[in-house]
Amino acid sequence: MKGNEMEQVNRLGSLEVVTGSMFSGKSEELIRRLRRAKYAKQKIVVFKHGIDNRYGEDGIFSHGKDSLEAYPVASVEEMDKIMEKNIDAEVIGIDEVQFFGQEVVNFCKKYVEYGKRVIVAGLDMSFRAEPYHPMPELMSISDQVDKLHAICMVCGKPAYASQRLIDGKPAYYDDPLVMVGATENYEARCRRHHIVRYRENKRGKICFIAGTEINVGKKIVEDMYSKEISEKAKYTTIVIKTNISDNAEEKIDKLAELREKVNKSLLKNDFVFIRITGGLLLPIEGNYSVLDFMCEYRKDSEVIIVSKNKKGSLNQILLMVDLIKKVDLNLKKLVYKNSSEEKENKEVIERIKEITKLKYEII
Ligand SMILES: [Zn+2]
Repeated sequence: MKGNEMEQVNRLGSLEVVTGSMFSGKSEELIRRLRRAKYAKQKIVVFKHGIDNRYGEDGIFSHGKDSLEAYPVASVEEMDKIMEKNIDAEVIGIDEVQFFGQEVVNFCKKYVEYGKRVIVAGLDMSFRAEPYHPMPELMSISDQVDKLHAICMVCGKPAYASQRLIDGKPAYYDDPLVMVGATENYEARCRRHHIVRYRENKRGKICFIAGTEINVGKKIVEDMYSKEISEKAKYTTIVIKTNISDNAEEKIDKLAELREKVNKSLLKNDFVFIRITGGLLLPIEGNYSVLDFMCEYRKDSEVIIVSKNKKGSLNQILLMVDLIKKVDLNLKKLVYKNSSEEKENKEVIERIKEITKLKYEII
């Protein structure tokens, strides 16, 4: 009885999915697991997709030099045929599994039911940062998922998806998969630096203008910048007003309205100045703060902080810079508006520049 039970346990198959963006080390991880099985004297069968010929005919082809013999196959049918001759294999490895289409899901299920350990590696998302089928299906029926991360080629943070570049520029969403006469390459990128371009919406840029206190001179700064660009670009201004004592009923749909207003303005203008009156942490609607709203437009915006040029503003400025940097918004510069009060020493302003690594301007 006991012996039979053991046999049952031993015969239980499993599915392991290794996924992530390009350059995240999926093939290396697959090879590592297969090699360990080989050391344990288990029979392994490895498949790679026939269209993937990066590293010669027979090896799997991680970006590192470690390789392992694999059958290059073009379809699940071919894999099945090879399995017929290798039905005693205990471990099956499939690299670039996303190329095998929906059928590979049933293939994996079948051999797991036969008691095999199936390990697959594949891209979880396309260059458009959309799920790459059949990875979602494989991940959900698997026993174990390991999502690996490459490093963003721009900033060095953990990468989120593969950036497709055509002639060095981010690809458009609808660019064909084969671009004749163009040079194409891929880079791992984080959420902030992964860019998918869309042809139809030509969008403007947002310049958020925030102040360290009320009546600090945000309007003056905005007028200054808009005058600078008015000759060559179209712009408009939106003011976000926050007030804690606002009547709750009036606030309903304030966020949706604001979003619509901003999106429409972005379609019609090259620049949209958004002046923030009140604090960044004050709510627009419910618990949704001005800062949350700004994060929605992270990729299309930059932030200018306006402060009075007076003694004792240092701490307020640093707090605000810290807040904005923590949510990874693009801080462009600090503007000091000269006030009638005693002015801050030039050395202190230079010191703030060193700490924040931000350009500044005194007006
Ligand atoms: Zn990045």
